Amino acid sequence: MSIDIRTTLALNHGGPMPLFGLGTFRSPEGAPTRTAIRAALEAGYRHIDTAAAYGNEAAVGAAIRESGVPRDDIFVTTKLAQSDHGHDEALRAFDRSLERLGLEHVDLYLIHWPGGGDRRGSWRALERLHEEGRARAIGVSNYMVGHLREVLDEGRVVPAVNQFELHPFDYGSRADLVRFCREHDIAVEGYSPLTKTHRLDHPVIRDVADAHGKTGAQVLLRWAVQHRFITIPKSTNPDRIRENADIFDFELEDAAMERIDALDDDYITSWDPRTVD
Ligand code: NDP
Repeated sequence: MSIDIRTTLALNHGGPMPLFGLGTFRSPEGAPTRTAIRAALEAGYRHIDTAAAYGNEAAVGAAIRESGVPRDDIFVTTKLAQSDHGHDEALRAFDRSLERLGLEHVDLYLIHWPGGGDRRGSWRALERLHEEGRARAIGVSNYMVGHLREVLDEGRVVPAVNQFELHPFDYGSRADLVRFCREHDIAVEGYSPLTKTHRLDHPVIRDVADAHGKTGAQVLLRWAVQHRFITIPKSTNPDRIRENADIFDFELEDAAMERIDALDDDYITSWDPRTVD
């Protein structure tokens, strides 16, 4: 099946969710983020990933309204900060996120991190928000297999999505987690798909990029979407926002995919959820 910037994945509830979106971690509140999101929507992005902890929900909401793109055409994810774990705290935190975004609902609400408080209470709150229709889909982030088993055993709703760090350099180490998610119909969303730039110049990535007349960033993103991983590269630079979306006119052949699949050295750029019980 061919894929393009509008390709969506059917979620186990809510959805459909665009496979490709814009990340906004470290996109500052205010004009740079508004400009970036408008540039992304102009380039065809229809999926924005933010979080209460990023401090930019107001800019995300303002940019969506300014863009002229109908709200229903844009998939918006935000996340519950770990400082707001717990049933009642989560409900209040969600209200604050909606208010900052200036939206009536979000398309996906994620628990950002399994540690730091009463995550079971948080999940019960997300189930309620889902039932009320204010979070069309609910899911988790940085959940490892043990954390997911807890939700599956105790919860009423199966998470629609698990968002965790995923790129070729931790792909092998996350194989069991990817398999577990897929066995339970939980969509896999990879963050830091560009390794926060640290591995864009890896020799194998450069070699494949040169062979296709593409950049290292484009190869990493193409690899992700060919695996049907939801991917959310962050940029506030309009040129790089367009570059990152220009990945739907080429294909990585099996041999290139296999070379890239083999690059794992258990490298991660962010916090490590394996440290959370
Ligand atoms: P990415 O791997 O997306 O890398 C972002 C960095 O790459 C920025 O410094 C950006 O700079 C740069 N960049 C973007 N495009 C290019 C390009 N084409 N060429 C060269 N450099 C480029 O890292 P993130 O950690 O931001 O991950 C993506 C998103 O995932 C986040 O923004 C966030 O939405 C989500 N996330 C979720 C986490 C979680 O715990 N749930 C944790 C981390 C991320 P510039 O802006 O200047 O272009």
